[in-house]
Amino acid sequence: MTTEDLNPFHIAQRQLDDAARYLPELEPGLFEFLKQPDKVIVVEFPISTTSGGVRNFVGYRAVHNRSRGPGKGGIRFHPDVTLDEVRALASWMTWKCAVVGIPFGGAKGGVVCDPKQLSERDLAHIVRRFVSELGDNIGPYTDIPAPDVGTNARTMAMVFDTYEMMHRGQNNLGVVTGKPIHIGGSLGRDKATARGGLFVARRALERGLLDGVDDLRGLTVAIQGFGNSGGHAATLFAEDGARIVALSDSRGGVFNADGIDPAAAHEHKRATGALDGLAGTESITNQELLSLDCDVLIPAALENVITSGNAADVKARLVIELANGPTTPGADAILSGKGVVVLPDILANAGGVTVSYYEWVQNNKNEQWDEEDVNTRLERIMTRATDGVLEKQEQINGSVDALTAQRKELGRDGDPLQPVDLRTAAFIVAVERVAQVTLERGIWP
Ligand code: GLU
Repeated sequence: MTTEDLNPFHIAQRQLDDAARYLPELEPGLFEFLKQPDKVIVVEFPISTTSGGVRNFVGYRAVHNRSRGPGKGGIRFHPDVTLDEVRALASWMTWKCAVVGIPFGGAKGGVVCDPKQLSERDLAHIVRRFVSELGDNIGPYTDIPAPDVGTNARTMAMVFDTYEMMHRGQNNLGVVTGKPIHIGGSLGRDKATARGGLFVARRALERGLLDGVDDLRGLTVAIQGFGNSGGHAATLFAEDGARIVALSDSRGGVFNADGIDPAAAHEHKRATGALDGLAGTESITNQELLSLDCDVLIPAALENVITSGNAADVKARLVIELANGPTTPGADAILSGKGVVVLPDILANAGGVTVSYYEWVQNNKNEQWDEEDVNTRLERIMTRATDGVLEKQEQINGSVDALTAQRKELGRDGDPLQPVDLRTAAFIVAVERVAQVTLERGIWP
């Protein structure tokens, strides 16, 4: 149990506050602007259901910031979606796009529904009605959705088709990314979040992130979540020589200290709908997975998984956040006190939106790139972004005394600044980039 504030938007704002302390010259008014979303849309709409009768649904779309380019971010279908969650996810998209240096701002959408309990027909009606309610709030140069928890390439095909019906006679492919390959999708997009995380981990280890470890070979890995990110991460990290000792989905987890074959796990999940019962494994709970004795823990599901209530039990040396917001500020403090290193979400899972950007470029040029080409470009961007965050951490931690003195001089509080973790370093990189562009463009009018 934890008593901390688990509101995701409060957490996103708190992370920004933490970073801003190291940016004493950041204009306070500009900072206030960066803390809030630019625009929030709430829609309510009815669906006439397969089982008869009418059901009302609530949907949200938040655009957090568009200084660096159009809004970009997924659409989530989940029963626990809230407006504050969407606000938080939209702001993390802004920082994520800035960390990897792609020309997008941040946005996110969600519909409160449980796709696992809905018929295909009802889901299709929800997607189409939601997109039509959003109208021209989305568009190839204004705000570009993508998949997130509970949505996939098929959902994106419907988003595209609905928008296309409302805007015939122009190239609309760039209105949404994560589409099926034969409808303008990019090769490599499905595995991009996991592959991006792998490239970040490889680079960080190569640069000495963990003492005595140069690469993933032989490291034991536990992955929480077996959707798009977690499922592909199991395969890709195992291909890189890691030993996957535990996996879990929303129904529970499986464990084998000698290693789990990801292909067998995928096949078992496909055949039975769950991981539980996978031959050669013992059942564990999601909570047990988080505290397993392993080298690397990969949360790849939802927010607030590692909290002040369980962070002390984490035994992994490295946490790679493929989910958005899986670690709370309270947990961050405990983990860093124990020497556990966290590769933060806005860096570690940015591979997904990076290949979304490649998809959008291909759509605008009517091209299709080879998967190898996509992956090579992805590696270059993720490696450069990892270097940028590690170097920012070094730079800040080498100048905490000077920054403290500067704060005092500028009339901010003079409390001594502490060394930053990689999350705060990544936020500092991102905020600097967004603030710089905002000021260089000039504030209209
Ligand atoms: N939903 C994904 C994320 O959280 C992808 C967003 C995108 O590709 O636009 O990063």
